Amino acid sequence: MSISGALKTVSKIANQIDNVELHRALIELQNDVLALTEERATREGKIAELEKALELKGKMKHYRSVYWLVDGENIEGVFCSKCFDIDHIMCRMVITKTEGQRWISCQNCKIEIDSYLAYTYIQRNKIPEDILNLKS
Ligand SMILES: [Zn+2]
Repeated sequence: MSISGALKTVSKIANQIDNVELHRALIELQNDVLALTEERATREGKIAELEKALELKGKMKHYRSVYWLVDGENIEGVFCSKCFDIDHIMCRMVITKTEGQRWISCQNCKIEIDSYLAYTYIQRNKIPEDILNLKS
């Protein structure tokens, strides 16, 4: 019998008994069960959120100052190290300076880095050969 089923049975029996203390205790018990049910739903949501974050963290590979999302045969990038490590968010980096330089930057935290590999990936949208060894 489930908790809610047991509570209904106890409520039916309590309605046959004229006892104020019993009714108060039953109401308190119903409120506690409701609070525990809500707390369990919140925790289950948090666990699902953490499992998803853990799975994502396992797929994020740090290489040459940036993160790459390696999901089986698919590699996607590049993502800001600072934003992922500190704020736990994935921020795609973009090319910011092209004249003789290979700077890329994060549109969120505005950090700029000089990375030939990441720059080349963004510019050509082609995975550089040496990134292929990141696959697990
Ligand atoms: Zn950033």
